[in-house]
Formats: sequence, structure tokens, C-alpha cells
Amino acid sequence: MRTPLIAGNWKMNGSLELIDAVTEALAGAHLDSNVEVALIPPFTLLMRAGQALADSPVRLGAQTLNPNAPGAHTGETSAALLKECGVELVLTGHSERRTLYGEDDAAVLARVRAALEAGLTPLLCIGETLEEREDDRVEAVVLGQVDAVMGSLEPAQRERLVIAYEPVWAIGTGRTATPEQAQQVHAMIRARLAELSPSLAEGMRLLYGGSMKADNAAELLKQPDIDGGLIGGASLKPDDFIAICHAA
Ligand code: PGA
Repeated sequence: MRTPLIAGNWKMNGSLELIDAVTEALAGAHLDSNVEVALIPPFTLLMRAGQALADSPVRLGAQTLNPNAPGAHTGETSAALLKECGVELVLTGHSERRTLYGEDDAAVLARVRAALEAGLTPLLCIGETLEEREDDRVEAVVLGQVDAVMGSLEPAQRERLVIAYEPVWAIGTGRTATPEQAQQVHAMIRARLAELSPSLAEGMRLLYGGSMKADNAAELLKQPDIDGGLIGGASLKPDDFIAICHAA
């Protein structure tokens, strides 16, 4: 009953040429209408992607936003500016934003709120580092990140999020969580959401991210609590990305 979502996070990669190649490939891919697909390219490619996807069911996402009201924020991009490009969803709390750009839970919450207020879908990323896993702190870290956002939102707002569990040690490393490891954390997140509301837990899509590829996607996506994927590296190769969409 949860529609799977496969989202391609290009990070600081790609080109106009790749937007054209990927949107064309997706248009010809006969994607299953029961699977939602999203492209999340860098800001400078959003307008072109939005135009190319205008008549397509493929959604457009942004990698971050600035939560402030429009005004004197040189170099930043607001939700309203993103929406003009056709953006419908936005990543919040990606581990690279947390670690490289110092976004703490409060900064993540501010971005989630700004996205919700603008009518965008926040795709909240959470996950533990290798050190935290080795210290047996997966539950504390991951559920702490869930609580920091979910605990501060109204019930109706919570339902509008998508969550992506991305173990930091699996991002861009080629080292994927095993389907069992991923399922275990997904089940734990869903149980926590159920404490807030059983129907919230039932309806919330929980994506896995971290070196998901064409050859391991099916096993991961088969798990009962994995409802899709947030794909980095493999989303830059049209054939691989489409193979993952088909695996869902
Ligand atoms: P990866 O990235 O697929 O390259 O590991 C996933 C992500 O960071 O969203």
C-alpha cells in the first residue's frame, strides 16, 4: 500500500547533457506507474530538468533549501525559488550537509518546516556513522534524528515527510548495508513512528540509501520495511538508475 519511491541524488555532479540524457531515457523506459521516481540534480540544472519533466510523472527534487524568508541571503536558494523550477521535494539532513556544512538537528528541522510551509515534500535523511555503529549506538543516533524532527511537528505535518535511512558508512563507499541490517533499522524507525501514531507508521515511506546499485537493489527493496531508495552514484548512469526503478 505504500508507493515505492526511487530518488536519484546527483549531489554536485551532472551536466545539462546528462539531464537531457536521463530525462529522455526515463521517458522511454516504460516505468511502472506504481513506482514513483524523482530526480534531484544540482540547483543550476533544475530549470532545465523541470522543463524536460513537465509532462512526465517523474518528480523533481532539490538537494537543500535556505529556510529563511526571501531577502538578503547572498548565495542561498529559497523554497519559493525552487518551486518556480517545478521542484516538489527537497532533501533535508543529508549526511553530507550535516557533516560538511554543520547542519545540526535544529537546522534540519528549520528546513523541514520551510519545505512544509511551501508545500514541498521534505525527504528527511538520517543515519549513523561507522564509529557510532561500532559503539552500538545505531538506535540512539537514528531514533534521536527521527525524534528531533518528528517530535516538533504537528501530526498532520508528520504525514507529509518521507524518511531515508542512509548509514553514513555506506554512502559513496561501495559498502552497502546487508538487506538484514537495513531492514532491522527500518523496522526500528517504523516502530518509533508507531509510538506517535500507528497510521503514521503504516503510511510513511522509508527509503534506504547507501551504495544502492542495479545489482543489489532488488534484495534491499524486497524487505518489508524498505519502501524505495535514495540513489547517489548509480543515479548518474541512466541505465543503472532505470534498472533500479524497475527493481522496485
Ligand atoms: P550513494 O549515495 O548511492 O552514492 O552511496 C547515496 C546518498 O548519499 O544519497
